[in-house]
Amino acid sequence: MPSGDAESGGVNTDQRAPLRYVVAAATVLLLGTLWFLTRPGPDAVAYLFMPLGGVAAISSIAALLRRARLEPAGRRFWQLLLVGMAGLTTGYGWLAVTAFAISPELPYMSYGTAVPAGVGLLAAMWAVVRVPLGVSGAAARRRQLVDRAIAFVGGGSLIWIFGLVPMATATDRWTTQALVLTGLTFLIGLGAVVKVSYIAGGPVDRRALRLIAASALVAGGIAVLSQYGDEGALLAQAIVMPAAFLLTTGAVHQQRNSAGSRARQANQWLPYLAMIAIDASLLGVLRGGLSGPDRVVVLAVVVLTALIAVRQLTATRENTRLLDEKRATEERLRHDGAHDGLTGLANRGLFRERVAAALGKGGATVLLVDLDDFKTVNDSLGHDVGDELLVAVADALRTTAGPCALPARLGGDEFAVLLTGPDVVGEAVADRLLRTLTEPIGVHRLLTHASVGIATATPGIEVDDLLRHADLAMYAAKQRGKGNRVRYHDGMEEPVLAHARIGGDLRRAVDAGEFHLQYQPVMALDGGQVIGVEALVRWQHPTRGLVPPGEFIPAAEATGLIVPLGRFVLREACRQAAAWLEEFGPDSLQKTGVNVSMRQLHDPDFTDEVRTVLAETGLPADRLVLELTESAVLRGKQVSRTLYELHEMGVRLALDDFGTGESSLSLLRAFPVSIVKLDKSFVDGIEWDEPGTPAAEARQAVARAVVQLAGALGLDAVAEGIECQEQADRLQALGYHLGQGYHLARPLTRERMTEMLARRSEPAVAGA
Ligand code: C2E
Ligand code: CA
Ligand code: CA
Repeated sequence: MPSGDAESGGVNTDQRAPLRYVVAAATVLLLGTLWFLTRPGPDAVAYLFMPLGGVAAISSIAALLRRARLEPAGRRFWQLLLVGMAGLTTGYGWLAVTAFAISPELPYMSYGTAVPAGVGLLAAMWAVVRVPLGVSGAAARRRQLVDRAIAFVGGGSLIWIFGLVPMATATDRWTTQALVLTGLTFLIGLGAVVKVSYIAGGPVDRRALRLIAASALVAGGIAVLSQYGDEGALLAQAIVMPAAFLLTTGAVHQQRNSAGSRARQANQWLPYLAMIAIDASLLGVLRGGLSGPDRVVVLAVVVLTALIAVRQLTATRENTRLLDEKRATEERLRHDGAHDGLTGLANRGLFRERVAAALGKGGATVLLVDLDDFKTVNDSLGHDVGDELLVAVADALRTTAGPCALPARLGGDEFAVLLTGPDVVGEAVADRLLRTLTEPIGVHRLLTHASVGIATATPGIEVDDLLRHADLAMYAAKQRGKGNRVRYHDGMEEPVLAHARIGGDLRRAVDAGEFHLQYQPVMALDGGQVIGVEALVRWQHPTRGLVPPGEFIPAAEATGLIVPLGRFVLREACRQAAAWLEEFGPDSLQKTGVNVSMRQLHDPDFTDEVRTVLAETGLPADRLVLELTESAVLRGKQVSRTLYELHEMGVRLALDDFGTGESSLSLLRAFPVSIVKLDKSFVDGIEWDEPGTPAAEARQAVARAVVQLAGALGLDAVAEGIECQEQADRLQALGYHLGQGYHLARPLTRERMTEMLARRSEPAVAGA
């Protein structure tokens, strides 16, 4: 019996359906049972209980149809069931009337009973048939139809053998009408059972349908009572049928309290139960004394169905296994699609997805982590070692980020961490990571540094903006040097935007030819003779005037515009140098220096470009000096090959800003360098040599070491940034022969430089 305090909801309008119809039906059943046990009055009384139970069921359905808001399909079901109950009650009401009329004999079932009851049962059957199953998909529906047919045939055979056949053969009291009615009842019960096993949702409550099935099967159970003659008939009328109606009122009550059927997995076992049922009925047939050969056939069929069931079961198992495998594969593919193959961390796509989700929920802090010297490792130690470093960094990220964070590899040597929750401190995580990276990591015990940018979501921020903020902060951290972390703040964009603006401006300027060169002489410190020149690029900006290279060279490098710009400088410097040599003779200018940035050296065509320019301008290779900084030279195999090719071509290489890097001395042996240019910072203040100024002493020591080393290796040493005579004297005393600086000569325009060369060559011409 359904519980009276089931939740209300779903399609109902009333709070909780009253139990009164269930109580009424239960009372009828109770009275029927009491009567059957005590037997007061004539046997005809037994026939009263069934119509009374029927009235309770009819009333309950009527109330349901009146009160509850039902979907059309559900309403149709209960309406048909109402017709069914009404037919049965009318028919059996008539039977009760005849029972009293012919009492004390038991009544004969006339058409007055059989016709309305039969119509009622057909209506109920139609109701069950029409119950929608709530399954979607043609294939699923077809498969279910087959399953249900199997279940129906199986259950039907069982009822036929153990219910209807004994009923038809037991006593002559069972008329054809009674037989048909009972058969119909069974069919309804069976149909409902089959239906309810497959119902996956829909307008008719599953539990209600289950109770209807039970009700019909209980009613059909009268067939079994047929074995007990008159007593059985009375029992059926007084107890069994009222019990069936009680179940019906229970079903109605269930529907009124239904919260709507939720979709669920359909029953898979019914077809197997049906096969067992068929086998059981076949074995029942065996009892009926078949001939030997027939028995063999029946047994064979039993064995065959059992085998088919086993066969089907293994296939189902296999299907389930394949499905599981398929699901696992899909899961793996989904994982692979969202994760980085090398480190196993989330990839950019997944990371962005999670950031978006976190933004929806409130707090999100993003850490952007970029390795500072990964490229050097990769280029100098090879990709395997580089990969290993990335894996080690990924591990460090996992352990330092903590369990609630999502670490990711966004690509290359760029990592990220997503921190969610209201009070996460990005700085703490960043510091943990940077601390971890102060120790060598991985199998190769590599030391690496990282720059970390931190950005926390502000209300309404987009994923792209949050990531851009973190990126800007990371960029700022990199500017501060290795192993730093910086948090994004408003206005951080400005310098970068300026960079971007200058980048756009540069592109236009390259096309518009706004660049020209100045030339700063390199002089002999003793005689003041011009040994060479260094070409220095100048930007004559239409509105800003002369822009110094310190402002636009970094932007040109960042945007890649340094490549076309550098090509212009090289060509122009070589053309000009060749022209001066042509005009003033081979002794006028020994060397022409051109600054080359790292980005140009990376260009695989750079050697060819130099070769072409030399060929086209006619400048001898050994008159060209390419000035490189240490960081440019330290960029791996490709650059190293380029440098050797240039050297073989006869071009001279100079190490610019010498002494400022970390490994200047070792570089002198690793690369085919011909000239070192002592950085201006060692020249500044070199003239103050009062004792007790350790900085000056240290500067002198470096200046001395560099010139001695150059001497030992057979290189030329040039001192840069000489601003007064004292510096020139001091450097000369230390062993320098060549110098460059404002004191000796400022960078000059082409015309001024031409004048200077002309003046220098004049005395010689005059003296010849
Ligand atoms: P650098 O290669 O070290 O060039 C020397 C810089 O020092 C030049 O600045 C020059 O004008 C300046 N200088 C020379 N003597 C003195 C002195 O006595 N005192 C002071 N305070 N400065 C002196 P400039 O022309 O502004 O160039 C700056 C840097 O820009 C250069 O440094 C070089 O790294 C880069 N650069 C210039 N032209 C080019 C170019 O065509 N290509 C590339 N890639 N870089 C260039
Ligand atoms: Ca230079
Ligand atoms: Ca320099």
